[in-house]
Amino acid sequence: MSSKIMNSEFEITQNPVISQMSSMDHDQILFCSDNITGLKAIIAIHDTTLGPALGGTRMWSYNNELDALNDVLRLSRGMTYKNAISDLALGGGKAVIIGDSKTMKSEALFRRFGRFVDSLAGNYITAEDVGISPSDMVWVSKETNHVVGLPGKSGDPSPVTAFGTYMGIKACAKLRFGTDNLIDRKILVQGVGHVGEYLVSYLRKEGAQVFIADISDDTVRRVAQKYGAKGIALDEVYQLDMDIYAPCALGGTINDETLEQLKCGIVAGAANNQLGIEDRHGQDLLDKGILYAPDFAINAGGVINCFSEVKDLSSKWAMGKAEDIYHTIYDIVSRSEQEQIPSHVIAMKIAEEKINKGRKNIK
Ligand code: NAD
Repeated sequence: MSSKIMNSEFEITQNPVISQMSSMDHDQILFCSDNITGLKAIIAIHDTTLGPALGGTRMWSYNNELDALNDVLRLSRGMTYKNAISDLALGGGKAVIIGDSKTMKSEALFRRFGRFVDSLAGNYITAEDVGISPSDMVWVSKETNHVVGLPGKSGDPSPVTAFGTYMGIKACAKLRFGTDNLIDRKILVQGVGHVGEYLVSYLRKEGAQVFIADISDDTVRRVAQKYGAKGIALDEVYQLDMDIYAPCALGGTINDETLEQLKCGIVAGAANNQLGIEDRHGQDLLDKGILYAPDFAINAGGVINCFSEVKDLSSKWAMGKAEDIYHTIYDIVSRSEQEQIPSHVIAMKIAEEKINKGRKNIK
């Protein structure tokens, strides 16, 4: 049968949404539109084998709707892997609100979004992400109970994310240098915002030599002074001779250009989507002999914190669970070294094995 469907008004030669969904194995997508509030959003549920899909809501001025769709599909799949590899009884989901977070926010818009979240009856649990503040989520929570990370509940996930990242860095150090003691190690933290600053504090407490870079000069000055770190210029980042590079700002910093310059033994930081082109740049790191802690495994502290709220567990439990990231990263990276397979591929395999096991248990 031809894939071309004709009727009087439309000629459809392909169906990009369904084919994209099935190529990445998504369960469900909810397209949300409301003319009164101006809301345009997409909620993607990637997988719910291990539990309800949990992942934040991002508000961003996408160039077009296809970019927004691609982003939400990629991010929601990442949440499935992140939750599975961390042994959390959660699936993966994510939402994007299309629009300028500086000009388009209103209570009505977020409440309308909350009603869309509620229509999924707990299959999707939302939280904050880029462009969203706690007060936006309070508006969402007026319409649905399926929100975590609200003020007065589990709170800011960044300290837990930073602690898990610190543990992952130590595991990589053990594999690369034979000791996980970071004293005098030269470590560059790129981006000293919520997570980066807490990470700097852990690293300095242990006696590492910490270098920091941020687009905000004021932040660099403040953090450098507070913790005894050394600020460097943005264009020095990839030229610095360092033991460990910890990306804690934006994604995509491991790319063709930076890989030519990077002088480090380990890449381990909290930023999401660090590999510019996943397949190619993961392999390039392996070929260059640089250990890489897969982002979705090392930065799982934030979602661990959200899970503690879902299950009414203590912050002590969350920190204990984030400490386990040491063993998770150690296992992934040592397997990557032994099998000479990029670490992010190993991590995805482990996550898929856990999901498949969960699927069998359901049958
Ligand atoms: P944030 O916005 O608080 O901090 C980011 C910092 O990076 C800011 O200080 C910003 O000025 C700086 N920055 C931006 N572009 C830069 C550049 N080109 N060079 C250097 N610095 C730059 O964000 P955050 O909450 O600290 O998150 C940092 C990263 O970790 C993000 O990629 C985020 O997706 C990821 N992450 C965060 C959490 C969490 O709990 N907050 C959890 C998982 C993953």
